[in-house]
Amino acid sequence: MMIRFAILPFLLALNFSMCTKHPSPVTSSEPATSSPAAAGETAGGSPAPGVAGAAPSPKITRYPGTEITPTDFEAQMKQLKDAGITVISLQDLLAWKRGEKNIPPRCAVISFDDGWKSQYDVAWPIMKKFGYPFTMFIYTEGVRGGSLGGGEAITWEQLADMRDNGIDIEAHTATHQDLREGHNIMLAAPGGKRTRTKLTGPAYEQWVHNEVVGCKELLEQRLGIKVNCFAVPFGNYNEHVKELARNAGYEAMFTVYGQPITFTSPLDSLGRYAIEANKPKVFVDAVKMIGTSSGGAAAVAEVGAADLSTQPADGDTVRTALPLIKANLSRVGGIEPGSVQMRVSGLGVVPVSYDPKTGIVSYQVTQKLRGTSCTVIVSAKAEGKKVEAHWTFGIEAAAAAAPVSAAARSTPTPKK
Ligand SMILES: [Zn+2]
Repeated sequence: MMIRFAILPFLLALNFSMCTKHPSPVTSSEPATSSPAAAGETAGGSPAPGVAGAAPSPKITRYPGTEITPTDFEAQMKQLKDAGITVISLQDLLAWKRGEKNIPPRCAVISFDDGWKSQYDVAWPIMKKFGYPFTMFIYTEGVRGGSLGGGEAITWEQLADMRDNGIDIEAHTATHQDLREGHNIMLAAPGGKRTRTKLTGPAYEQWVHNEVVGCKELLEQRLGIKVNCFAVPFGNYNEHVKELARNAGYEAMFTVYGQPITFTSPLDSLGRYAIEANKPKVFVDAVKMIGTSSGGAAAVAEVGAADLSTQPADGDTVRTALPLIKANLSRVGGIEPGSVQMRVSGLGVVPVSYDPKTGIVSYQVTQKLRGTSCTVIVSAKAEGKKVEAHWTFGIEAAAAAAPVSAAARSTPTPKK
């Protein structure tokens, strides 16, 4: 039984796999990495007899670094719940990073890498039990029928079933190898013949393009989805790979170097905690990190924009590029007047007026907002704690382009 996952305290990444996907020597000869965090990325495990399904405590035999029993896995999922940690989806995390959505102060994101049948058969039912959303990072040649997809690989049909049930499916390259130029890579011909080689120059560029871009396109085409996240095998990448990924339209890139995610964490290197059965401490540490993190969302209490009667309201569309932006902080309580701050996308921190009596914070935009959507972040200190609210409103395209008339200012359209 192999479950692999990684935790992002606030990003909990999970590799859950079981059994050898590619029974050929390819799996075990994948390059070892010097990073202990990446160890969970190296190999598939082997099924103990009768392990398929949720047999209690099956023996872990071949790859203890990347295997975990269903019982242990379920216990960890329960631990998250018991610790009061909310498991959110990766897309919610990104929406929060874009300033479009609030998330609870203590949360985790769970992802499973590589695409094993056991993730479908064993992990998914456990995740369902807890109602946890999750993301699957798939390397396309490792899906059943691909050059690296053996009998324990997930199938396209299983992925489609997951997709239909709201599971997020994202990219993890085509062949799961070190993406940096000049490293030994394995090339698999459709006939099964494998060769090891070092690619450089145009040959490398062509290969890496397929790993980064081809993989995304294939997932999008086979499953009819939008892929916006990329998990880097072994966490081995460089600026060139990042640039390729950005140009391919990936919004976020993930590694396996465990670290808490904060609002300002760079989107092109979001760390995940790789969870492995023989390193239970990683999970314990990750959970602890979520509980005590001072740099992440844990330090900030999120206030729903609706509670602040914001103007424009979250999700509204206004007819002017020069709106009056307002929020009522009176319901927060204990606000330190000097601490009230407003950020507006495209403008940064703006000079607000704040009336401690009414609790109203407001800012009249004086420089036309660009684009058709605007995110506002209002923050303040209340009783020694930072509180924050994010909301986003739309701007009618015509208004953004039109010359400004005083009458058009600050007139929100009615809520849909
Ligand atoms: Zn992987």
